[in-house]
Amino acid sequence: MNKKVIIVGGVAGGASAAARMRRLDEHAQIILFERDEHISFANCGLPYYIGETIQEREKLLVQTPKGMQDRFNIDVRVNSEVIAIHPENKTVSIRSKTKGVYEESYDALILSPGAKPIKPPIPGIDSEKIFTLRNIADTDRIKERVDYNLSKRVVVVGGGYIGVEMAENLKERGLDVTLVEAAPHILAPFDSEMVMILEKELEEQGVNLLLNDGVAAFQEKGDALDVVLNSGTTITADLVILAIGVTPDTAFIRESGIQLGSRGHILVNEHMVTSIPDIYAVGDAIEVKDFINGQVAAIPLAGPANKQGRIAADNIAGIPSFFKGTQGTSIIKVFSITGATTGNNERTLKRLNQPYHVVYVHPFSHATYYPGAVQNSLKLLFNEEGRILGAQGVGTQGVDKSIDVIATAIRLKGTVADLTDLELAYAPPYSSAKDPVNMLGFAAENILAGRTEVFTYESLANYKSEETILLDVRSPLEFNNGSLPGAINIPLDTLRQRLGELDKNKLILAYCKMGLQGYLASCILRQNGFKVKNMTGGFKSAVNFSPVQEKPPSTITLGALKDASISFHHSLDACGLCCPGPLMQVKSAIDKMNVHEILRVTASDPGFTEDIKAWCKQTGNPLMDVSKSKGIITAFIKKDNLPKTELPVGGEMNKGKDNKTIVVFSGELDKAMAAFIIANGAAAMGKKVTLFFTFWGLNILRKREPISVKKSFMDKMFGFMMPRGSKALKLSNMNMLGMGTKMMRMVMKNKNVSSLEELIQSAMTAGIEIVACQMSLDVMGLKQEELLDGVKIGGVGYYLNEAEDSNVNLFI
Ligand code: FAD
Repeated sequence: MNKKVIIVGGVAGGASAAARMRRLDEHAQIILFERDEHISFANCGLPYYIGETIQEREKLLVQTPKGMQDRFNIDVRVNSEVIAIHPENKTVSIRSKTKGVYEESYDALILSPGAKPIKPPIPGIDSEKIFTLRNIADTDRIKERVDYNLSKRVVVVGGGYIGVEMAENLKERGLDVTLVEAAPHILAPFDSEMVMILEKELEEQGVNLLLNDGVAAFQEKGDALDVVLNSGTTITADLVILAIGVTPDTAFIRESGIQLGSRGHILVNEHMVTSIPDIYAVGDAIEVKDFINGQVAAIPLAGPANKQGRIAADNIAGIPSFFKGTQGTSIIKVFSITGATTGNNERTLKRLNQPYHVVYVHPFSHATYYPGAVQNSLKLLFNEEGRILGAQGVGTQGVDKSIDVIATAIRLKGTVADLTDLELAYAPPYSSAKDPVNMLGFAAENILAGRTEVFTYESLANYKSEETILLDVRSPLEFNNGSLPGAINIPLDTLRQRLGELDKNKLILAYCKMGLQGYLASCILRQNGFKVKNMTGGFKSAVNFSPVQEKPPSTITLGALKDASISFHHSLDACGLCCPGPLMQVKSAIDKMNVHEILRVTASDPGFTEDIKAWCKQTGNPLMDVSKSKGIITAFIKKDNLPKTELPVGGEMNKGKDNKTIVVFSGELDKAMAAFIIANGAAAMGKKVTLFFTFWGLNILRKREPISVKKSFMDKMFGFMMPRGSKALKLSNMNMLGMGTKMMRMVMKNKNVSSLEELIQSAMTAGIEIVACQMSLDVMGLKQEELLDGVKIGGVGYYLNEAEDSNVNLFI
């Protein structure tokens, strides 16, 4: 006899089960009951239809009752609610809009009733201005209010996937949007530091984000509604979208004897069978097994619902398919940024007391020399055996691919070693020869193999400052543009020469921009007998940990002029360059411009928004606008001579007048050494240092070889008589016809003290400003070509300006 299969719920799980059932059994009688008017609609597309990215309503209706009947011979009964199940006689009761209440028998029953929006008993919750979003009817109601301009101010309550998508789409329709989230952060599947990038994007795009604040009450206010928060803040809205989560839509099952979980979810086995034989359940209404930790979980996602529908049909048709659990792979678009996640996050692992390691990488989406590369942030969680526990990614391009690859590896029980092995498609427009997923694998493998020890920015507070040295190995430009409080700066390329400045008794906590140079520094340090840990993900990860930006000062109209056409004189494309590349290019472009001219610069380095703000403050060139679209940051900078603001730029070290100026007047070896030792020391402590060379001090900067330049007789004579360069300098005392100087250099070498030449080189590498006094050059008959490369020429004004910003000013 032909099997009679009844399916309750006609969207993701239900429609999927029906179609599969028919494909497997052409002769079965299949009846699908749907309470609403539509079946198989694209619930995931609803926010985008409201936002008008999806223009045509029909596109949401993936399948119609007639289409389902014609193609699959399924008896679809819409406007028909199953109100009770009677397992004892294998029947269900249906309340139909047209036929009233009736019963239907079944041989097998598949339940896919989904989950409905939670509506807690908050005072005023029944207001007509409060909407939830689950189906087409909800969508039509909300869209109508927006289309007919009935709503200008919206409060979205709840920062889950649906809440965030609604906030984005309503903002894109031009509404004033406030998103209220009771937890410290939105989008619970992500860890704080990753989701903060998405929160910043929401804020930058003009969504008013209120975290850590729940709704206490809704109060009618004429045509509007006051949303009163626990903090006492009141926001007036014309429309409220309530999206604080879902609860299984299983009230009609309660009397059936089918076992439900504590929160009303249907309990099923791995074949999707409930506690009663021949009754199956799938989708948002069921409790699943977490694929990573094996615990029970409720993870309402379309992918698992569809798969479970297929598995239920398989089992009814005699194919013993299994559902192995849900790992929570999910993705969201937040304006121009994508967030994607799979597996467990740190919060879950901590709650379950599962030991884990964490690594971050911040790779570019594709080869940086190919236009349009943008930087992403990826995080990997894994255990001591190398098993992958979870991954999260945030960025503008390619994050979906990386997370999907890792999700696949997780499903196949892969390890971090497998990630290093994966051979993934590469050509410059798409990826890098070392794919971001490979990079995560390399970083994780280094930890497990003991080749490096890492720490996270979050854990930094656990280290005692008296027992550690926080070492920033980035360039001085990057360091001065923002660093961690208490860090000293020894750029990676000078680290080998400057090991003597570090205390071997202390643990060195090294960091760089993204983790790689810090790793290289940790290799150098460890092999030289230092105890060292590298900050995984580097300064970029620390920036990701910083909370949602404060509103920018009024002089910076962040994004406000986005659509306005700012006319500009020069344009610079710094896309694909990693910090400090874009800043260096900006500096060199601004240097060549006339005062009051405007530079338009585009960059893909995500840190560029903050970097350029800091740089403009530091240099006194006003930032007219900075905006971001599809991962590309566009800034307009006016060249000007405004006074530098005194706002702190990076860590605490950069506050106020903290620079050091040294006037080097003497041209003797010991005095020159003293000047450079002090200068290098101050630079290592993160201070901006200017060495201003005048009169005899200029000789220190002369090139050793004679340079042919046009000079008067007197100038030539002067030049001939004076020492040419550092190697020709004498001691101020005990020179003894040059013997004392030679002895001094020998002693210094034996005692491992850097030579003057090395000190000069370090100073230049550390970004110390070396300035030759123009007036003294004229007097001494010296030309710029005769001085070391990289020496600037400046006048008294330059010196005084630098001294003005300094709290130490020495004359040597
Ligand atoms: P549903 O698809 O909700 O279908 C249940 C159906 O059962 C409903 O139509 C309901 O009317 C009907 N029903 C309930 N009770 C009865 C009854 N007693 N009798 C008859 N019919 C009944 N997931 C993702 O993975 N990615 C996304 O981007 C995404 N975006 C989403 C956006 C929105 C706005 C929403 C609402 C959900 C989104 N989801 C997304 C979640 C995804 O849609 C669900 O996980 C999936 O639809 C669950 O499938 P289901 O069959 O369990 O329930």
